[in-house]
Amino acid sequence: MQYPIYLDYNATTPLDPEVLKVYYKALQHSFANAASRGYSLAEQVRQETEIARQTIANFIHTTPESIIFTSGATESINLALKGAAHIYRSRGKHLITQATEHKAVLDTYQALECEGFKITTLPVNNMGLVDVDALAHAITDETILVSIMHANNETGVIQPINEIGKITKERGVILHVDAAQSCGKIDVNVEEMQADLLSFSAHKMYGPKGIGALFVRKKNPYIRLEPCMHGGGHEHSMRSGTLNVPGVLAFAKACEVAQAAIKEEKQKLFNLQSFFWQKIQRELSDVALNGHPSKRLPNTLNISFGYVEGEAALKGINEKVAVSSGSACSSAVVETSYVLKAMQVPTPYAHTAIRFSLGRFTTQEEVSEAAEHVIKVIKELRKSSPIYQVRQQGIQGGFFAKYEEVRS
Ligand SMILES: *Cc1c(COP(=O)(O)O)cnc(C)c1O
Repeated sequence: MQYPIYLDYNATTPLDPEVLKVYYKALQHSFANAASRGYSLAEQVRQETEIARQTIANFIHTTPESIIFTSGATESINLALKGAAHIYRSRGKHLITQATEHKAVLDTYQALECEGFKITTLPVNNMGLVDVDALAHAITDETILVSIMHANNETGVIQPINEIGKITKERGVILHVDAAQSCGKIDVNVEEMQADLLSFSAHKMYGPKGIGALFVRKKNPYIRLEPCMHGGGHEHSMRSGTLNVPGVLAFAKACEVAQAAIKEEKQKLFNLQSFFWQKIQRELSDVALNGHPSKRLPNTLNISFGYVEGEAALKGINEKVAVSSGSACSSAVVETSYVLKAMQVPTPYAHTAIRFSLGRFTTQEEVSEAAEHVIKVIKELRKSSPIYQVRQQGIQGGFFAKYEEVRS
């Protein structure tokens, strides 16, 4: 077995071997500029690029002319939100999102707020779900854009995106979906969602870093965007700059592999995470799963461990298992995850939350050994925890009783 055991697939994924082959070959042979004219090498690269665009379009159930290549989901999100807000500002200046979005959405909205747009950030319930009726009520005559993520990166919670799409369509409001985390893990279909804009990224689905895409609806309705990147007029003038051809070709291969594997992979990952969580629950008291019990990605577990110090737990676990905590820690202060805070996870529980995200190359042996290591680390830490000793002497209820009560 290779150490550390990698359970941080929601942060980024390794390249799939099939993708690596395509990427390597493209770096060697498909180096010409897809925008060059007059010689066959550029023509060949242009054809390869357009075939790749078709494959990527198929993957999200759309047509190639609605795919714009970018450097990743962050850029796609910036282009989608700023581009739509700027071009449709004469229709209204109200934008809607929800509290557990990725920073790429929240910070872009904040920048738009500084320009004079009005932002509504909807709350989520303690399972991490946005309320569809509340969203419908938040839409006014001034609303031009709604941005809701498909699946959350920290908890894996899946938003009711099809219901949301129904509402935005009825009300004539543009819907942007951040699908960086759902693409490759669950089915993403822009027609079923009725999404107008959708962002995704290759490196979250076994493709290379530095390449992503934005879906921009081309009919019913035709969505226009003001470009962020000005220059040579590439990508229908929506994103100028020489195309990252090897990235595009590798991204397409990643979509192809994901499409072929998704059904089996979903089941495999669901079984593995469920084995992991059951083992943890069997051997450790005072643990809680953050997020929705079933409306969740099949690979993601966000677990709080009671009666341990969050940083110490993470450090111990990281000796053998590569995982992330929900909290961003700088040298001195541990900042609680804003995602867990928005879900009203009480601070001590949010402080000890760790995200385990499994993926294509995760094995049963790895999951088993990772769980054993986690159990050992937490038991060790609890041995030296005075409050845990008190709890063991028969205090009823326990660390998580109240939290579980609130959630039920
Ligand atoms: C990773 C991620 C992003 C950012 O994607 P990049 O391609 O790294 O820029 C945005 N949203 C979500 C939900 C993500 O998980």
